[in-house]
Amino acid sequence: MKANTEVVNDYAFSFLESVTDINQDQVYYKNYKKGTFDLEEGPGNLSDLLQHYQTYVAEAGLNPASGSHLGYIPGCGLYPSALGDYIAAVTNEYAGINFASPGAVRMENAMCSWMSDLIGYDKQSYGVLTEGGSAANLMAIVVARESRDLNPSDYTKQVFYLTRQTHHCIYKGIRTAGLAKAEFRFIGMDASYRMNVNELKATIEKDKEEGFQPFMLVGNAGSTDTGVIDPLEEMSEIAWESDLWFHVDGAYGGGFLLVDEQRPKFKGIAHADSVVIDPHKGFFLPYGTGALLVKDGKKILNSFQFQANYMQDTLGSREEISSADASFELSRHYRGLRMWLPLRLYGVDVIRKALEEKIMLTHYFLDEIRQWDGVEVGNNPDLSVAIFRLFKDHPDRDELNEKVVKELHLRGKSFFSSTTLDGEFWIRVAVLGFRTHIDHVDQGLAEIRRAAALVT
Ligand SMILES: *Cc1c(COP(=O)(O)O)cnc(C)c1O
Repeated sequence: MKANTEVVNDYAFSFLESVTDINQDQVYYKNYKKGTFDLEEGPGNLSDLLQHYQTYVAEAGLNPASGSHLGYIPGCGLYPSALGDYIAAVTNEYAGINFASPGAVRMENAMCSWMSDLIGYDKQSYGVLTEGGSAANLMAIVVARESRDLNPSDYTKQVFYLTRQTHHCIYKGIRTAGLAKAEFRFIGMDASYRMNVNELKATIEKDKEEGFQPFMLVGNAGSTDTGVIDPLEEMSEIAWESDLWFHVDGAYGGGFLLVDEQRPKFKGIAHADSVVIDPHKGFFLPYGTGALLVKDGKKILNSFQFQANYMQDTLGSREEISSADASFELSRHYRGLRMWLPLRLYGVDVIRKALEEKIMLTHYFLDEIRQWDGVEVGNNPDLSVAIFRLFKDHPDRDELNEKVVKELHLRGKSFFSSTTLDGEFWIRVAVLGFRTHIDHVDQGLAEIRRAAALVT
């Protein structure tokens, strides 16, 4: 047993050594080997299996542990989270119900209370750790739906207010929640891609006059494309006046609530009925941990609490609300330990300082690239995601920028992803990996310069 652990440790440390050395580090493996993962009747050898993993999993596609990952929303994955997962699996604590593991439940509740405090919620709130932001956003939609006494025949009159910057998982959630036949209003945005609140107000008035029922308003607290925060304070007032469920998607940006200097941008978030934060983004955890926080905790219980005969032994010990009563899951991964362990071990201030560094690096990147000929920066980001493009006045601008991204991917030293806004191609920079430091940003700039020279 111990020998197995040592083999795994050796593997993990050689991986970590390569990922922390910018010269050895590869962030994207395009021409990977395709392996097979068939099970066999007999036993395998652990070293061989890890070699198989290295060749066919680690060295295929993206390396999200790398500090050179500047695309999508990176996070890198804190190592002590792996230790937390290890202990969680070894002890196999069941964190779903207070009766089964009151300590694990208290730990998960404490993680959610801490995030609720960051939002500015009071003790009436309740939160639950989910698999990620998509699951948490889906659950928010379900809680909003259940908090209204709707008949399915009312669904077609309900109106969602969103922008074209709303993350696609919201639509997935709406469809999964059975509300796909509702009405959708895409409210216009200002030049920085923030919701236009005057248009929102006018649209709601018009909907009311026409007999529709304003149902849910979704705000971004850090949009995925451009990293901007919607005018949450004004949106919360409008939501209040029209009895809308106000949901804030802070999957990407919510972590920045930890940074005092950034907090004013989130003003109004405490008035949201529900908020999503992804610890696997802003708190640098490995994939697998999102959170839904609901201002009125009773509403999340009203949506998900059930009683089953075979669970009757658990009834006597409900002094702590547990995730089985506040989510659609029952048996689930004990997610609390992978969050609590790194945050307690390092201290919250280390996480805060890392977030401050990410904002600084984003500005550094943009300040540098702005000075190049023919570069446009698409928006002033609120946080650590922004868009830019090269070849400003070139007739084949979109095509050339796309070629730059392809060239970057082919080489695999620095990873950037792209997006399309109003039909135009943009390159995105997203700085959120805790391993991303100034060397990675400098390398990213050099790689872009190199790619740009190659495509013309
Ligand atoms: C990442 C993201 C999501 C989806 O969260 P997952 O954890 O990937 O499921 C939702 N909204 C925003 C703004 C995001 O950045």
